[in-house]
Amino acid sequence: MRKDIGGAAVELVRGDITRQEVDAIVNAANSGLRGGGGVDGAIHRAGGPAIMEECRRIGGCPTGSAVITTGGNLPARRVIHAVGPRWSGGSRGEAELLSGAYRSSLQVAVDNGLRSVAFPSISTGVYSYPIEEAAGVALSTVAEFLGQNPGCFEVVRFVLFTAADYDVYAAALERVTAH
Ligand code: ADP
Repeated sequence: MRKDIGGAAVELVRGDITRQEVDAIVNAANSGLRGGGGVDGAIHRAGGPAIMEECRRIGGCPTGSAVITTGGNLPARRVIHAVGPRWSGGSRGEAELLSGAYRSSLQVAVDNGLRSVAFPSISTGVYSYPIEEAAGVALSTVAEFLGQNPGCFEVVRFVLFTAADYDVYAAALERVTAH
């Protein structure tokens, strides 16, 4: 699925984020940038040790924001490490923190002249954020940023791991672009 927002193609695909040939892929990182399971583990495995070396030098990243490293051996040149919130019921600012993780990632991309980025579904794995809500936050945040920064991106792609996740994001993208 593909929609034009602010001159950028917002794409949804099913697949593995480590295989994406874009300027930057986004990692669903933890605030210590220590690596982990899920998409984080897959990115470090595929990208090699140069990514972790740079993460150690950076030291950490607050929840709701993002930092950038090399892409190591990945097809993508850079990795943007975004830290989404752990879900704890929804009344602890989770939506604003998740929105911040997407917004910061896009800002870091703009600051580094990166025009194609691929996101995973941040926080909806180990961090347990309900995916219907997370997809709405992700796509409305991206749409708002693209509207405010026209011409900055060619492609913003969401790479969903399962068919069920893809369907949830597709419904959310329809909603966000309906008006
Ligand atoms: P978080 O800790 O932010 O919840 P996870 O890595 O546990 O992050 O999960 C985030 C999402 O990434 C989940 O939907 C998971 O299915 C998905 N995922 C796991 N591996 C990959 C991959 N290689 N490519 C794309 N998405 C992936």
